Formats: sequence, C-alpha cells, structure tokens
Amino acid sequence: MSVTIVGGGISGLSLAYFLLEKDPGLEIRVLEAENRPGGKICSDSSDGFLCERGVNGFLDNKPYTLELARKLSLNPLRSNDAAKKRFIYSRGRLYPLPESPQAFLFSGLLSPCGRGRIFYEILSPKGKEEDETLASFAKRRLGKEAYEKLIDPMASGIYAGDPEKMSLKSCFPRIHELERKYGSLIKALLKLQKEAKKSGKSVGPGPGGRLTSFYNGMETIVRSLKEFLGQRLLVSKGVKAVDKREDRYSLYLEDGSVMESDTVILACPAYAASEILRDLAPALAAHLSEIPYPAVSVACLGFRQEDIRHNINGFGFLVPASEKRKILGTLWDSSIFPNRAPEGYVLLRTMIGGARAPELAMEDEERVTGIVLDELKDIMGIDVLPDFARIYRHEKAIPQYNVGHAARLQEIDNAVSAYRGLYLTGNAYRGIGINDCIENSHKLAGEIYSKT
Ligand SMILES: Cc1cc2nc3c(=O)[nH]c(=O)nc-3n(C[C@H](O)[C@H](O)[C@H](O)COP(=O)(O)OP(=O)(O)OC[C@H]3O[C@@H](n4cnc5c(N)ncnc54)[C@H](O)[C@@H]3O)c2cc1C
Repeated sequence: MSVTIVGGGISGLSLAYFLLEKDPGLEIRVLEAENRPGGKICSDSSDGFLCERGVNGFLDNKPYTLELARKLSLNPLRSNDAAKKRFIYSRGRLYPLPESPQAFLFSGLLSPCGRGRIFYEILSPKGKEEDETLASFAKRRLGKEAYEKLIDPMASGIYAGDPEKMSLKSCFPRIHELERKYGSLIKALLKLQKEAKKSGKSVGPGPGGRLTSFYNGMETIVRSLKEFLGQRLLVSKGVKAVDKREDRYSLYLEDGSVMESDTVILACPAYAASEILRDLAPALAAHLSEIPYPAVSVACLGFRQEDIRHNINGFGFLVPASEKRKILGTLWDSSIFPNRAPEGYVLLRTMIGGARAPELAMEDEERVTGIVLDELKDIMGIDVLPDFARIYRHEKAIPQYNVGHAARLQEIDNAVSAYRGLYLTGNAYRGIGINDCIENSHKLAGEIYSKT
C-alpha cells in the first residue's frame, strides 16, 4: 500500500512517524508546500534571540508530545518556576491570576460582587442549548465580570478567538461534559479534588500542566522528525488537486508533476484541503471552507534588561477585550525559558489580531511594531525603543471552532467516509494544540493500519 500525506506540519510529520512505527516497510511520503517542514512550528534564531514564530510550547499534563519526544530521544524543557505566575491586565494595571480557590477569594482582579457571583454558580441551572457559545456559558454560570476578566482573555490566549462565537463543547469539551455530568463546575471541582486526593494528585480550576518546549525551541521536534523521515519528506511540493480513478488517487502538484497513491491523508489546513478537494468532492470542500482562520501576528521585541523597570518575573499577561486595547497579550519569553535572549537582554512576545481584530495583524511591520510599543508603554511603562524586533505574520493563523463546528464535523466525516482511502487530520478538527494534533495522528495511524 502506498500512503501520501499532504502537509508537513506536526500533524503530518507525526502521522508519518506513527505509521512507520507500525510498519517500517510502508511506502510513504509527506508532501510539504513550503521549502521547510514544521508549519506553525518555526524557531528563529538571530542576534542571540530565539523567537518562536508561532507555537511556543505544549502543556505537560497530556502525554502525547512528551511520549513522541521520548521516542525521538529529545529532552523536553519545562518552563521556569517563575512562569507559574500569570497576569491579567485590568483597569490600568496587571493583576496576578489567582492560582488556587483560596487566592481567588483575596484577589483584587474581580470586585467583591463579581467574586460573590461566582459562588452562585453552584445554584445556576444547567444549560439547555446543545451547542452554546463560550460567552453565553460563562456569563450564565459565572457572571459577566468573571466572563470578561477570566474567561475572555483565556479564549484570546489559546484561540485568539471571539467567545461570543466560539463553541463551548468544541473548544472546551471537558468543561461542557462537567456541566452535563455534575450540574455545576464548583461541584465538579470539589468532587474531582476529593477523588484526586485519594490517589495523591491535585486538581485545580485551570487547565493545569506546565508549558514545555526544548532548549533550542519547538523546532527541535520538527528537525528530529525530518531526520527520521529522510527522503520520504519532500518540500516545495504543494498539492493543487486530488482525483480518484478506480481504487487509486492521483495528486496534481503545483510544479506540474502527478503522483499516484492508494491512500491520501490531507494534513494541511482546512482551507487548503478545501481547494484540493474542490473538483473531487465539492460538498466536502464547501464544508471545509467554512472553518474560519483569522490573522494573528507575533511581535518579538528584545530590550536591554536595565531598560525594563516593570517586574517581568512571570509568564506574561493577557488582555480582556473589555479593556479595548490593541493587543491580545504579551509573554515574557525570556522569563519562561532559558536561552531566549542574550545575557543582559529580555525577549517579550506580543500577539496582535485574532478573530476580533484580524485587520490589526495585517498592518505593515512598522505599524504593528508601533502599536505594540504604544501598548507596552501604557501597560508596562516601557518607554524605550527595542534593540531587536521581528514581526511574524500568520494571515490564516488558528482555526476557529465556532458554534456549529461539531455539526460541521459530522457532515465532514460523513462526506469523507464515501472516499475509501481518503482521510483528513490537523488542527482544524478535534483540538488545536500540539498535544491534540499528535494524539489525533496517533489515533489515525491506528485506524489506517487496521484497514491494511
Ligand atoms: C501564532 C500561533 C501560536 C500558536 N501557539 C501554540 C502553542 O504555543 N502551543 C500549541 O499547542 N499550539 C499552538 N498553536 C497552534 C498550532 O498551530 C498547532 O498546534 C499545530 O502547530 C498545527 O499543526 P498542523 O500540522 O495541524 O498544521 P500546520 O502547522 O498549519 O501545518 C500544515 C502544513 O500544511 C502545509 N500545506 C498547506 N497547504 C498545502 C498544500 N496544498 N500542499 C502541501 N502542503 C500544504 C503548510 O505549509 C504547513 O506546513 C499556535 C498557532 C499559531 C498560529
């Protein structure tokens, strides 16, 4: 059986790895459109700074990336202890995000009314809508203030999304399940804490886990997979279209060549898969084209340590939309991991754009730098120009799982099942993080292998 994977991001690369793990003799190739593999994982080293263009790390509370790193003999790097401290910008200053329910009681981030309203959660009735927005869920259960100051910035931090459109059950399936099962998040937390205590573990209100990367950045795992795949990975091989004749697929490439394959897995973004399938499966292509990908830009700015008066001993901060600022948040990268800035310098990494202001991400580089500097001046009091600046633009950055995503996935699954030997994977469908991508590739490798 011959297998062709279209897209050499972490989804496609890890899928190839898992398939070869099951059958080292499998005839397999990965076709990547760009001149390098990795997709949204790209670590850029220049002038002594190590900038992540996209992915900054993964959480170690799920085993998938750690397990793959172990198989590749890589050493994961946990974030510094200081990075446990996260901040939220509100009313002109940064407030530490409470790390425990007790700390929460004394946090000044929410007003006494806002804090009190959260305890009413235990009495709030269960939701009736099958697919509800994150905003509606959070306001209903936790109140408007907690939604604005806690939930909204979290949605920006992970999805660069708009909680008024994001689907709770597609973006945060665990929280959706907990409400269904226990009727209240507080009740669920207490119950889970009790169970966890018996096994000596702890459960907190947040997603948990520690941000993890590698000493030389996230691209380490891409380099290692590239080396493992060798000649099976072909770069600058964009696929334009796929056709099916009898039991085989023909892939038409941008460079004019045509390749044949028994099995084709589209591990590229949904909008690219939609283009590729336009003639073969128009209805499927239409569903895929409906998944939105707003633009996000990442501004990496390096400053001399002595020029930064603000304490940056922490993870960084997120900005609630209600503050009406122009950035989504800033990570204090050189406080999170070692080796991100040269001695005597710091590296700050700011996100701009996202579902609510995609146009800001697409401003020219000078303007993006100017906007970020204005915001950092107001928020952190930084009033000097950076010694180092890099702007990385992602015109189509992160797929949005808006309300209707689950129903769309059902249509997509039904449509794909009509094409024997055709599969879709990647962060557009069932989880946007690296851990999700690797877990989904692992599952898919098992499914494909079981059919051979
Ligand atoms: C700014 C930003 C920050 C992020 N930070 C994090 C983070 O810290 N942690 C985390 O877990 N996740 C993060 N993510 C999400 C991250 O994108 C995913 O977890 C993961 O990298 C997606 O991998 P993928 O392989 O599914 O898709 P991609 O990385 O998008 O890879 C798809 C690949 O397909 C290729 N391709 C496209 N069209 C074609 C074609 N026609 N033919 C052949 N190849 C094609 C592309 O060139 C690309 O290489 C971030 C995303 C962005 C944009």
